[in-house]
Amino acid sequence: MLIVKKFGGSSVADKDRIMNVASRIVEDYKAGKKIVVVLSAQGNTTDELFRKAREITDNPSKREMDMLLATGEQQSVAFMAMAIHALGYPAVSLNAFQVNMATTSAYSNARLKDIDAERISMELSRNNIVLVTGFQGINRYEDITTLGRGGSDTTAVALSAALNADKCEIYTDVEGIYTADPRVVKNARKRDEISYDEMLELASLGAKVLHNRSVELAKKYKVKLVVRSSFTRAEGTVVKEESKVEKMIVSGVAADKNIARIAVIGIKDIPGKAFDLFNLLAKSNISVDIILQSIGRDKTKDISFTVAEHNLEETTTLLNDNLDYLLADKIEYEKDVAKVSVVGAGMASNAGVAAKMFEALYDADININMISTSEIKISVLVAENDVNEAVLAIHDHFKLSLK
Ligand code: ASP
Ligand code: MG
Repeated sequence: MLIVKKFGGSSVADKDRIMNVASRIVEDYKAGKKIVVVLSAQGNTTDELFRKAREITDNPSKREMDMLLATGEQQSVAFMAMAIHALGYPAVSLNAFQVNMATTSAYSNARLKDIDAERISMELSRNNIVLVTGFQGINRYEDITTLGRGGSDTTAVALSAALNADKCEIYTDVEGIYTADPRVVKNARKRDEISYDEMLELASLGAKVLHNRSVELAKKYKVKLVVRSSFTRAEGTVVKEESKVEKMIVSGVAADKNIARIAVIGIKDIPGKAFDLFNLLAKSNISVDIILQSIGRDKTKDISFTVAEHNLEETTTLLNDNLDYLLADKIEYEKDVAKVSVVGAGMASNAGVAAKMFEALYDADININMISTSEIKISVLVAENDVNEAVLAIHDHFKLSLK
């Protein structure tokens, strides 16, 4: 039995937590399992490194940022190897170079392409517990890349696929996937199971538990994922194929404050302008979420859309530089917005979910700015101030605390 275990930054934040994790790893090792461990940087190390870089320059090179950030994960695996040694068991730490984690060349947002499992298999056959740095990779220039914030989950799932692991356990500071953020909704309920598709929506909606790409990969390679706590022994939530999962009409409510709304005002109302606009953004690797186009007037129209807040500056600069090309008047933006979404695999075959969600918001006197829907998700844009109240109201209205 081969298990890949990933521990997030909070699970290895200090010496006591490292020792706690080390002994849990050793427990499984003693039970005869082969173990590969993927670690994140300790606590808020990655944020600290960002902060320190900004002390030097507002605009650090992305290549050098990746070089810097990758050191966080390297510290964690070395400390963990030492901790396991201290318990009297064999362990070896490896970084992205040693494991040959090939990625695309995009610094700060690279994608894993290929993992050479040979070195890991060799270490496993020597009965080592193998500790691998999360979040980092190597591009074709033999430079260090990183996979985007939270990317260690993706390293763990990719390794599980490459090694054909029996399961991939993601250890974090919550006990699993909940019907809503338990810090906001006190009676949120932990799910025993959730489908890849629902999880994918929740991850991209800012549920913050799993890195989006990790769920995509898990679905693609059918990796059995378990999300559980490193602090308790609770069972956690299994993420798997939908057929075996209870098809909840609504399985969760998620909120994302990290978004901004941008409006391109007075674009000439002729074919091709939406293409020009979004192609410009795509070329700069800026992902767009909810899109709304106004009805044309005076041969012009407005197009609004949302982006991640950290892309706001780059996006407005890019668009302002291209106002003439876009045949638009001006760019406006709004940061104090948040997206609230409901997700559920059973939604596709049940009418009235949207109405019920809007009713909950109406009862709570919360105004809706934008709406977008997919087969298994409905999202609305609300004022950031309203976001917790919106989540509570919706969670309550759908009675998600009850099984
Ligand atoms: N240390 C990285 C981050 O903070 C990667 C991760 O934790 O998954 O984003
Ligand atoms: Mg994470």
